[in-house]
Amino acid sequence: MAIASFRDDAWSEHEVVATGPLSIHPAAHVFHYASTCFEGFKAYRWDDGTTRIFRLERHVARMRQSAGALHLPVPDAGALEAMVCDIVSQNREDAPDFPGALYVRPTLIGTLENIGAAASPSTEALLFVLTSPVGDYFAGGMRPLRIVISEEMRTSGHLGIVKTGGNYASALGPTLAAQAEFGADQVLFCPGGEVQETGAANFLLIRDGEILTRALDSTFLHGVTRDSILTLAAGMGYRVREETPTVAELLEWVKDGEAALSGTAAVLSGIGTIVYRGEDIQVGDGELGPNTLKLRDALVDIQGGRAQDAYDWVSEV
Ligand SMILES: *Cc1c(COP(=O)(O)O)cnc(C)c1O
Repeated sequence: MAIASFRDDAWSEHEVVATGPLSIHPAAHVFHYASTCFEGFKAYRWDDGTTRIFRLERHVARMRQSAGALHLPVPDAGALEAMVCDIVSQNREDAPDFPGALYVRPTLIGTLENIGAAASPSTEALLFVLTSPVGDYFAGGMRPLRIVISEEMRTSGHLGIVKTGGNYASALGPTLAAQAEFGADQVLFCPGGEVQETGAANFLLIRDGEILTRALDSTFLHGVTRDSILTLAAGMGYRVREETPTVAELLEWVKDGEAALSGTAAVLSGIGTIVYRGEDIQVGDGELGPNTLKLRDALVDIQGGRAQDAYDWVSEV
């Protein structure tokens, strides 16, 4: 892994060390006050032998935005990019053949040793970048997802946009309950009857020539996959509407439309069933929709170097 630290108002140079336990003081800020954020994205090995990272700049920018929102030391964009490229290049042999990939997980934690610092930021931090091989998420075939609608909050409104561990802690209870009660894959959080997102993926309504998804605001994580799908769709002639749908609009849409989740792991995964107030509602015919598959393929082809990278999303390591 690659690792760098921040203290006395400066970042160290990063080092590459064997992945293993870190020595961290039990009074470290992160353990008590959740000063932590992360990123997740993939590096792919192309058929021509090169290794390519998908939308690195965008992920680095989001990491910096998350760090800023948590008042953690913000890594330099160039330094973080260099750190990622260094560790990806050293671990590139671990990447399985496409559509397998090397998953990249930069993580930033507040390490100030002071449990009295509940109401002040961590002025010391560790930044590390892990990688791990991931297989083809869909190797077992694509299965339509089962999603439960909840009108609860996913997390606090103003941190919804931040990729921070606390948001996952907040979504875990409702997600486990939905799994136990309804055999669901995920919960779609719709606080106040407005469609937001699931615990770790964005939500899109799709049909012939049209996509509808929540407009960007601070309550949810602005997925790079979401942005990529919307950009590709607009280029393919879809009308892209970023207008926060209500649950009522969603229920109307899925009578004959499609619904999907987007994220780095899932790419674009079709939803077959929505559980609303304890009742199963079939999305379209309950199978994966043609528009979902077409958009997913368009994205995967760029990630794998099988289609032209018209938006300059893939960078060579
Ligand atoms: C990471 C994440 C996503 C997906 O973002 P991508 O950039 O598309 O991988 C969506 N929602 C939440 C809450 C996330 O943490």
